[in-house]
Amino acid sequence: MKQWRFYALGDMRLDDVPMPECKPGWVILKTRVVQPSVTEAQRAVGMPISGTETVKRLIAEKAPVPLFGHEFCAEVVELGEGVTRVKVGDRVACRARVPCHECDICRAGFPDLCRKGPNIGRQIPGCFAEYTTIPAEVLAVLPDSVSDNEGACIQPLTGAVSNVSAAHIQMGDSVAVIGQGVMGLYCLQLARVCGAGKLIGIDVRPESLALSRQLGADCVVDATQVDPVQAVIELTNGFGADVVFEAAGGSPEQGLAGTKTQGQAMHMVRDLGKVVQVAWIGNKVEFRTDEWRERGISYLSSDNCSDKLLDYVVHLVATRRIQLAPLISHVLDGLDKAPQSFEITSNKGKYQATNPAQVLVSR
Ligand SMILES: [Zn+2]
Repeated sequence: MKQWRFYALGDMRLDDVPMPECKPGWVILKTRVVQPSVTEAQRAVGMPISGTETVKRLIAEKAPVPLFGHEFCAEVVELGEGVTRVKVGDRVACRARVPCHECDICRAGFPDLCRKGPNIGRQIPGCFAEYTTIPAEVLAVLPDSVSDNEGACIQPLTGAVSNVSAAHIQMGDSVAVIGQGVMGLYCLQLARVCGAGKLIGIDVRPESLALSRQLGADCVVDATQVDPVQAVIELTNGFGADVVFEAAGGSPEQGLAGTKTQGQAMHMVRDLGKVVQVAWIGNKVEFRTDEWRERGISYLSSDNCSDKLLDYVVHLVATRRIQLAPLISHVLDGLDKAPQSFEITSNKGKYQATNPAQVLVSR
C-alpha cells in the first residue's frame, strides 16, 4: 500500500509499505478523506510550534517515519480481536489522544484526561496513507448525514468545542472572536449554540468576514479599517465583551497575526471577563500580568476530548447546528496531492483557504 513517510523535515515521500497488522482492540481503516491540521503543516517544516520537538525526535530516531493525519474520515475494513465499538463498513473519525491506561490519571478512572498516551499522527501513524491501524477506543461512527469531507473536520471541531466549553458562556453573553479562520468560525458558531448574545467576528480578510456574517455573526469588524479594540468597546456599550476568543495569533510569515491579538483580546474584554486562547502562537509572548490581575480577567484554554464530547461533536454536525461545508474551500483528488495540501494549509491567506486543504484518497 501507499504511505507518506518523512525522511527529514520538509522531505515527505510516497512509499510502498506493507499493509498494517491488526492488533487486539485496534481496527484497520481505509482512508477516504484526510487533511493536515494547521499545526501539522507547520511541524512538517520545523516551525516552532507545539509538537515540533516530538516530530523532530521521531524523525531523528525512526526516519523514514509516517507522520500526521489525525483529521480524517475513514472506513473500517478489519476488526481486531474484541472490537465491538465499530463494525466493518462504518465510516469513522477520531479523537487524537489515546489513553495510556497505565498512569495515575488513567488508573484513577479518568483516561480522557491522560497526557501520557500516544497521539494519532505522531506515535501512531495517521491517515496520510491508503490504510492505517488505530485503537478502536478513540473512534466515533459517522451517520449518513455527515459527509466524508465534513467527517475529516470532526477532530479539529472537538478542539473548538473543548475551548468553548472552558468559557462557560452564559445566555446573553457578548462574545468577540478575533480571527475568522476555521477555528474562529467554529468558536463563533459554538458560542451561538451556547446561547451567546451579541456575536462579533473580527478579521482582516473580506472573504472571512463575509463567511462570519453568513455563519451567524451579528457584527463584523475589519481590523484593517478600524481599531478592533475600540470597535468592540463601542459595540458593547463601553464595557468590553464578556468573552473573547483569540483565534488569530501565530507566525506572521504564514499570514497569521503574530502575538498582537493576545494584547487586543485583553483590552477588548470587560473587567472580570474571560479570554480563551484558541490559536497556537508558537513563539514566546510577553504578558503584562499586573493588568490581568488588576482587572480580574480569566485566561483560559482547554484541550481535552472525551467519548461523550466526540459523540456530541458528531451530533452537532449531523443536526446542522454547526456548519462545516461552507468552510471547506480546497479539495484535492488523490493521495499523491498530500504535499500540495500541506503547502496550501500552511499558507491559507495566500491561497484564500479557510479550512485546511483536504485530500480525497478513496470513495
Ligand atoms: Zn494515562
